[in-house]
Amino acid sequence: MKITIGHLYPDLLNLYGDRGNIQCLMKRCEWRGIEAETIAYELNDRIDFGALDIVLLGGGSDREEMIVCTRLQEIRDDFKRYVENDGVVIAICGGYQLLGHYYRTSEGEMKGLSLVDLTTEQGEGRLINNVVLKSDLFDMPIVGFENHGGRTDIRGNRPLGKVLYGSGNDGKSGFEGVVYRNVIGTYLHGPLLPKNPALADLLIEKALQKKYGSDVRLEALPDKEEQEANRYVYDRFVPH
Ligand code: GLN
Repeated sequence: MKITIGHLYPDLLNLYGDRGNIQCLMKRCEWRGIEAETIAYELNDRIDFGALDIVLLGGGSDREEMIVCTRLQEIRDDFKRYVENDGVVIAICGGYQLLGHYYRTSEGEMKGLSLVDLTTEQGEGRLINNVVLKSDLFDMPIVGFENHGGRTDIRGNRPLGKVLYGSGNDGKSGFEGVVYRNVIGTYLHGPLLPKNPALADLLIEKALQKKYGSDVRLEALPDKEEQEANRYVYDRFVPH
């Protein structure tokens, strides 16, 4: 089995170690004998979504998002087809905002991909925090770090998780991130996946199932360090 990961515009969207998410996905495949390849795209490269099994859209400053959003409009139809065909996407922070219809800031409005029915508006002050979530996708809590000025309204969509600590999508709804088909959007970085192996495996498993059939199951990995890192953050921030 093999998966191909498409990393969109790492030169521009690569805040707070998003590249670590790619390394984590690659390693977790390799440890199981699954071949994994990453293709990093620059802004003007042509993307053949048909050749990709996981797409990663990382975080960026407002300035970088502004540069990327113009190009995203040109690849939007192909990207939309990929998503509606159950392609796997992990979009972090700036990338998460650009999944939606727009990101409105004091500098102007960035048009998003409209792949998911959500919108983002810049609020007063930045939401900077450690974050712990409880997701209904798996038992292990999701831990990470957030640093965003945008407040995201996911409308009727399903959130990635309920906020146990931190601000989340908008600092008031009590929810963080979004899940739409096989797309996950989240403000959490740090990077996200090494500390959240259950989430990394969910992405890999969905990608393999789409390619090789719904009965594909990933074998469990020992994950001692990963579980300890996750547990440490949970214990530090969630009163119990
Ligand atoms: N520029 C966006 C914001 O401030 C996203 C930041 C990020 O990707 N960390 O809301």
